[in-house]
Amino acid sequence: TNANLFAALRAAFPADLDSIAVETDNGLFYSWRDLDRASAMIANLLDALGLEPGARVAVQVEKSVEAMLLYLATLRAGYVFLPLNTAYQSAEIEYFIGNAEPAVVVCTRANADWVGPIAQAAGTRHVFTLDDDRTGTLLEVAAQCSDRHTIAQKAESDMAAILYTSGTTGRSKGAMLTHGNLLSNAAVLKDYWGWTRGDVLIHTLPIFHVHGLFVAMHGALLNGSKMLWFGKFDPKRIVARLPEATVFMGVPTLYVRLLAEPGLTKKAVRNMRLFVAGSAPLLIETFNEWRERTGHTILERYGMSETAMLTSNPYNPVQGERRGGTVGFPLPGVQLRVVSTQEGEEGRECTTDEIGGIEVSGPNVFAGYWRMPEKTREEFTHDGFFKTGDVGKIDGLGYVTIVGRSKDLIISGGYNVYPAEIEGYINDLPGVAESAVVGVPHADFGEVGVAIVIAKAGAALDADAIVAALKSKLANFKIPKRCFVVSELPRNTMGKVQKALLREQHKGLFA
Ligand code: ATP
Ligand code: MG
Repeated sequence: TNANLFAALRAAFPADLDSIAVETDNGLFYSWRDLDRASAMIANLLDALGLEPGARVAVQVEKSVEAMLLYLATLRAGYVFLPLNTAYQSAEIEYFIGNAEPAVVVCTRANADWVGPIAQAAGTRHVFTLDDDRTGTLLEVAAQCSDRHTIAQKAESDMAAILYTSGTTGRSKGAMLTHGNLLSNAAVLKDYWGWTRGDVLIHTLPIFHVHGLFVAMHGALLNGSKMLWFGKFDPKRIVARLPEATVFMGVPTLYVRLLAEPGLTKKAVRNMRLFVAGSAPLLIETFNEWRERTGHTILERYGMSETAMLTSNPYNPVQGERRGGTVGFPLPGVQLRVVSTQEGEEGRECTTDEIGGIEVSGPNVFAGYWRMPEKTREEFTHDGFFKTGDVGKIDGLGYVTIVGRSKDLIISGGYNVYPAEIEGYINDLPGVAESAVVGVPHADFGEVGVAIVIAKAGAALDADAIVAALKSKLANFKIPKRCFVVSELPRNTMGKVQKALLREQHKGLFA
């Protein structure tokens, strides 16, 4: 048998290859036959280049169905797909391309004049262009290739993709994911989230990240489900198409923006089966507001580039309720444990509700960081668990809660302060929309917390009053020593709050 992920996806295509696989927001229709033929043509193009086994195909293009086809073609031909965030500029691209040494680089026509030389300098021999209007040299050349292609033979342990992490805590690392990693996770989610015939997915996430590229896309493809495809997130147009859909996946900010649409009503979501959120913490307010407005309970899950999905709130009520503020249970096949980070007790498994570092193992856990053997060794335990870098706890029923990242943890006067706990109290204060608490250097305490707070529309907040309000609720070492009310939090493209940036901005306050 062939462990190539594409073979499994292709086998899931519906019998009627002329039915619609993808409908785009600008009125294009792609049948399953189109996906099969076009991925074969691009795979034949790649094959004709005579690439070495394991060659990387680096791609920085706007989201389009053709970009997805290039991903499928890369799997199909047995090479390694390496997507890059469209926001990256020359210094970043120079690092990623220099680090990955791709054999093939595909970029937009607009960027070709600077991406091309960077690629050449890194030894890349093949540079193609691809735009989101189906133009560029990649498709011109592929058009001359045969539309029949035999799927490359792959083992489970063969690399399928290198996904650079979002760079939230530092420089992005390339996570090497195998065909086995990706297929096992997709198969578990298909079952766990109850994908069924007739499901229609609204796909509006970027496809250079685990959420849009793997969770959403594999979900639809492995179920032979149609996708309503949005190049960009447009809340009005999404709300207009909701009645035709059954599944939606988004990062928390997308839910906030959808809630701002008056058209988001119970009637609009009448055919929906499942709303999934992840990639960043979903505020309990958003969770509650969504339930009131739509009658649907958002299913929050947790995962990362290195592991794909790790935990999920239950889909099936028999397994339990979906709990806001938690990320649910470890998925079938995933072992997840919380271990102490207290000095002298490192590695001791935590008791119920005790906070510690989250470690995981399972068939979904990556093969290591690309060209970072040291880092890879550091992040795995002796018994083969991956240290996620997230801090959390497991309650008596088995629900996992993330309380932050170990790098965001504040150690103040020797005590651990978990930013998520303080943020929770701040968010509960009247007039507060959301907040971020970060640690900054302090001459006496080592570190102290600083709160950055966003007001609800129309609310006036007083920074000192926020600090005063916390004093009656929390131990003194947890109280942020300063508070700032600002208009927005810095976020990256995946909607993650950039705490490193906030730390940098405020590092001089008490130093
Ligand atoms: P880097 O590793 O480069 O610092 P990153 O960790 O943000 O960046 P990703 O792999 O895109 O890169 O994100 C994974 C992280 O996102 C997880 O480790 C976790 O911190 C966070 N995350 C994902 N889902 C959730 C969730 N439901 N709730 C809270 N945090 C989440
Ligand atoms: Mg990470």
